[in-house]
Amino acid sequence: MLFGTRKITVIPGDGIGPEVIDAALKVIAASGVKLEPEIVEAGAVAFANGVESGVPDDTIRSIEKNKVVLKGPLETPIGHGNKSANVTLRTLFETFGNLRPVRELPGVTTPFTGRKLDIVIVRENVEDLYTGIEYMQTPGVAQALKLISRAGCERIVELAFEFAVAAGRKRVHCATKANIMKLTEGLMQHTFEDIAPQYPTIEAKHILIDNCAHQLAMRPEQFDVIVTTNMNGDILSDLTSGLTGGLGFAPSANIGNDVAIFEAVHGSAPDIAGKNIANPTAIVLSAAMMLRHIGEGKAANDIEQAVLVTLESGVRSADMAGDAKPSTTTEFADAIISNLGKKSDSATSQDFAAVKLPPRREDVAKVEVKERLVTGVDVYIETTLQPQELGDQLMVDTAGASLTLQTITNRGNTVFPRDVTTVSLIDLYRCRFLARSRRSDVGDPEILALLTRIGENHRWMHVEKLYLFDGEDGFSRTAK
Ligand code: NAP
Repeated sequence: MLFGTRKITVIPGDGIGPEVIDAALKVIAASGVKLEPEIVEAGAVAFANGVESGVPDDTIRSIEKNKVVLKGPLETPIGHGNKSANVTLRTLFETFGNLRPVRELPGVTTPFTGRKLDIVIVRENVEDLYTGIEYMQTPGVAQALKLISRAGCERIVELAFEFAVAAGRKRVHCATKANIMKLTEGLMQHTFEDIAPQYPTIEAKHILIDNCAHQLAMRPEQFDVIVTTNMNGDILSDLTSGLTGGLGFAPSANIGNDVAIFEAVHGSAPDIAGKNIANPTAIVLSAAMMLRHIGEGKAANDIEQAVLVTLESGVRSADMAGDAKPSTTTEFADAIISNLGKKSDSATSQDFAAVKLPPRREDVAKVEVKERLVTGVDVYIETTLQPQELGDQLMVDTAGASLTLQTITNRGNTVFPRDVTTVSLIDLYRCRFLARSRRSDVGDPEILALLTRIGENHRWMHVEKLYLFDGEDGFSRTAK
C-alpha cells in the first residue's frame, strides 16, 4: 500500500495484530495523510527464525531510518529467546516515556459512564524492575534489582509536565510507594517535587500508589495526568483502561528522543485471532496519536472524531456488542472511514502542539556530591544457622576488625542482636558491619580483609557499601 512520501515503520505483530493494523492503515489512508508504510517483522516469527531478541536487524534498520513506528502486539513464545520483543524495542530505542490516555467514549457503557473520565498515565518505560536484572541469591531466594535514577526520573517528570502544558491539562499527580521504598520510589517523589515549581500553571500533587488505585476506583474524575514509575504505571494503566471500556479501547505512545512507537495497550489476544472480530479502536486511536506526533494534527482529530461518531452510531465490535449483532473488524474500520469528516455530538478532540521533550544527555548522568564516605558494609550470607548462632560466630570471626557487626536482618526483620522467635527465617541474612565512627571512610582493603575472615566459615553472597553522600545515608536503615 503506497500513501505518499513520508515513511513509517509498521510491525503488524502477532495474533490479532495484522487484522487491527490493517484496519488502522486503511483509516490513515482514507484520512488523506501522505504516508508510506514500511512493513517489517518482529515477535513470534522472528523468535521462530532464531532471532534471540525477537527483533530482526532489518526491523531495527527500518526504525532507525523512519523514527516512527505503528506496531501490533508481539508475543514472547515460551521456550524461544530470553527477552520480550517489546522490551527489546523499548530499550533499544530508549522510548523512556509511555503515554496511555483513556477517556469516556460514547456508547461504551461502564460503571463510570457520565463521569467524563479523561486521564493520561505517563509511565516511565525503561527503568525500575523492568531492567530485568535478577539473581538467585541462594537456590531458594530470588532477587530483582529495582533501578531508579535521578536522570530517569527527571526526564519522565519533565515529559509529564510538558505533555500537560502542550495538551492544556490542569493537574499532574505523581504516584509512588515512597513511604516504603524511600530511596527508589522516594527519588521519583523528590524529583517531582523539585521540578513541579518550574510549571506554575499546572497543579502538582504527590499521592501514594495504593491510595491512587483506591481513588481511581472511587473518584477517578479527580485525575488528569498521572506520572509514575514503570511497574506502577504498567498496573495503573490497565486499571484506567478498565474504567473506560477495556483493552479494546486503550491506545498508547512510547516516546523517546529519536524514536516513537505507537501501539494499543492490549496484547495479541490469541483466543480471537484470525476471526476478524477484534476491536480496532485502540490501534486506530494509537494511529491518531502517531499522526499528532508527526504534525498531522488535523488528520488525527478527524480520525478521533470519526471513531467517536462511529461509536455514537451504535457500531459495536464483539467485545461490547452484548446481545446485538457485532460488526467485524473490517466493518468497524469501514464505518470509521465512512464517518471521516463528521463531528461527534458528545466529545471534542483537542489539537495540541508537539510535546517538548527533555533533550537526551550525551554525558554519563551523575549527581555531584561534595563528600562521600563509606561508613560500613552489608554482607549477605547464605546459612541455615539460627540468628543468635550466626551473630555469635561472626563476632568471633571478625573480632578486632575495623568494622563491627551491628545488626543482622532476615527479609528486613532485625533478628540479631534481638532474640526474635516470631519471624519465619530464610537462608539469606543481611549482616551490617559499621565503622567505629560514623564519619570514618572505610577503604577497600579493610572490606576485603573483613570478607576474607567471614569467608573462612561462611558463604557470603554479595556486599553493599554503605555510603554517606554529603552526610546523608545512602542506604536504608535497619531497626535496632
Ligand atoms: P491480551 O492479548 O491483551 O488479551 C486479553 C483479552 O483481552 C483477550 O483475550 C480479549 O478478551 C481481550 N482483548 C484484547 N484486545 C482486544 C481487542 N482489540 N478486541 C477485543 N478484545 C480484546 O492479553 P494476554 O492474553 O495476556 O496476552 C496475549 C499475548 O500478548 C502474550 O504473549 C503477551 O505477552 C502479549 N502482549 C503483548 C503486548 C504488546 O505487544 N504491547 C501487550 C500485552 C500482552 P476476550 O477473552 O474477551 O476475547
